[in-house]
Amino acid sequence: MTTSDYKKVLKQLKSKPAKLKKFLKHNAPKKREYGIAIRKCKRCGRNRAHIRSYSLGLCRQCFREIATEIGFKKYS
Ligand SMILES: [Zn+2]
Repeated sequence: MTTSDYKKVLKQLKSKPAKLKKFLKHNAPKKREYGIAIRKCKRCGRNRAHIRSYSLGLCRQCFREIATEIGFKKYS
């Protein structure tokens, strides 16, 4: 509910403005100050396994895919 599914429901409720307003009031995800949910992968939006070093802002899966393109080199 906090990441991917939230926006999908809004599409259905577009034709019902009163219900949309009520839905947003009660179901919008909280603005968080700390915790795992404040940082998302900038490529895929995943929360977990986030890499902040070198200000990458990627998850480990995306880093693995694009590491060679952005200049990282695998030793051994
Ligand atoms: Zn990612």
